[in-house]
Amino acid sequence: MLDSWPRLQASDFPALTRGSLTTLQLNLGYLCNIRCVHCHVDAGPHRTELMDRAAMELALQVAERRRVTTLDLTGGSPEMHPEFRWLVATARGRGLHVTDRCNPTILEEPGYEWVAPFLAAERVEVVASLPCHSAENVDEQRGEGVFAASIRALQRLNGLGYGRPDSGLVLNLVYNPNGAFLPPAQAVLEADYKRLLADRFGIAFDRLFTLANMPIKRFGSWLLSKGAFDAYMATLRAAHRPENTAGVMCRTLASVDHQGYVYDCDFNQMLRLPQGGGTAPRHLRELLDASLDGTPIAVAGHCYGCTAGQGSSCGGALDP
Ligand code: SF4
Ligand code: SF4
Repeated sequence: MLDSWPRLQASDFPALTRGSLTTLQLNLGYLCNIRCVHCHVDAGPHRTELMDRAAMELALQVAERRRVTTLDLTGGSPEMHPEFRWLVATARGRGLHVTDRCNPTILEEPGYEWVAPFLAAERVEVVASLPCHSAENVDEQRGEGVFAASIRALQRLNGLGYGRPDSGLVLNLVYNPNGAFLPPAQAVLEADYKRLLADRFGIAFDRLFTLANMPIKRFGSWLLSKGAFDAYMATLRAAHRPENTAGVMCRTLASVDHQGYVYDCDFNQMLRLPQGGGTAPRHLRELLDASLDGTPIAVAGHCYGCTAGQGSSCGGALDP
């Protein structure tokens, strides 16, 4: 894989500092049942890295100590972690809101029939990736048959009440572009998705989050291999909106890797950029005694991916 980091490191992206921490995003590991072209964590069925129980327990302690309100679970496919159910049930029992960043095809895998009813029973917010409403585009980006499996999984979630008015079970979808271009306007695309998915498949959902592809890891390598890296960076930089820097997710979220190390966001985790831009990695246990609030954020060229156009965060556009 080609490494885009040397092209991102020296950057004029403006300095940022943290606000109040509200969300701990735990990367439970890189194990995933599929392998997508754009995946910025390079996840797949071949990956074996998984967070251990001690790191999960520490994360729950930190959440309590720092008055975090949301545990945001990601991967890989977080549901493939053998301790997923324990973690979710414990977090919910302690009053935390839990979000599952779910690749919906996992609901269709043999042995994972428990996932959908479990998520509904624990009232977990589901953020499901569906990068297009067209089968052709999704299968090109994520693999053969992924679209059909995703549709069946979303129908199953709807059957449990997800995405239905007044159920309180939130189902959000995630779109990311199938190439080196910025996402279209989130509100317009959300209306298209709602109409097309309802008409064709009877699917309902709450919100669509549009995310820009980050020029790092697998997508960064793809850009470099196509000679498209500089043009994509120029697109991001030309679309930079300074007002988006106020809402980028690193202001209120900390990302934790499967070994318990802390980063300013998931992207920085993949780049191994220590929290705060220091040289030494910071571990979750430090957060038992020290707040992150007001500390510097490690920024570099890839940050333009969060501020370009309508902006991009784990909750979708910043200015939808
Ligand atoms: S489903 Fe998500 S974690 Fe898995 S390979 Fe695709 S983008 Fe990566
Ligand atoms: S990539 Fe985005 S979320 Fe991460 S540090 Fe840069 S601006 Fe913040």
